[in-house]
Amino acid sequence: MRFDIATLFPGFVDNALNESIIGRARAKGIFEAYCHNIRDYTKDKHRRVDDAPYSERQGMLMQAQPVYDCCSAVCAGRTPHVIYMSPQGKTLTQQRVLELSHMDEIFILCGHYEGIDQRVLDRIVDEEISIGDYVVSGGELPALILIDSIVRTLDGALSQPDCYEDESHFNGLLEYPQYTRPEVWQGEAVPAVLLSGDHGMIKKWRRRMSLLNTRKKRPELLVSAKLSEEDLAILNNDDNTLLKENV
Ligand code: SAM
Repeated sequence: MRFDIATLFPGFVDNALNESIIGRARAKGIFEAYCHNIRDYTKDKHRRVDDAPYSERQGMLMQAQPVYDCCSAVCAGRTPHVIYMSPQGKTLTQQRVLELSHMDEIFILCGHYEGIDQRVLDRIVDEEISIGDYVVSGGELPALILIDSIVRTLDGALSQPDCYEDESHFNGLLEYPQYTRPEVWQGEAVPAVLLSGDHGMIKKWRRRMSLLNTRKKRPELLVSAKLSEEDLAILNNDDNTLLKENV
């Protein structure tokens, strides 16, 4: 899979993509990423890429020309899916992450200042994605979040696929609680079932705890999660009106 990232801070994005799990996946060739400096495409003699908005608002806006020329040059002869990281986009979900992980080529556009001239966005963008209903200063961190979330689902990026398949949101639920050594810490023991070696019991415990964890922290997720009769029985041991929609 190939990512092209258009940004005013290519070094920042490139460095982050060389770290930790994502960095190892990149080194192994599980994905390719190329960071492009939008400023390299400006025709302004002072290398400016921004100007004041016509709306009489304060702040600066990225101009259409350098963004368009960067995208045209990078995408020449190819048709990657073009994503603009934007607080106005649809909020990223694990479901969308999985769908995007099947694409061969993604071009990610990072805005800065007050954003980007609408005319170039209308011309080149296929999809706007937000990382949440708040505003950060630039599209670089959102782009890294998007790439990270996609890469961890690619074959070979994590040691085992169940590392992410068991994680929160993969199946619409939150993950169960996890424990590591020591067996007893400050007088608190790890749940006995986890030391039993009984894989069937451990699997049941994980599902049960996942359901209860979700009900405790994000009950609204249960409305759309796929739940079996057994799941419902676990949850219905306590009163929970949200579940009625699932029955
Ligand atoms: N004026 C814009 C608005 O109100 O929609 C926000 C501009 S923001 C300060 C600058 C850039 O940061 C945006 O162009 C976008 O690329 C990125 N950005 C900010 N918040 C984001 C979010 N929640 N999700 C994705 N990208 C975001």
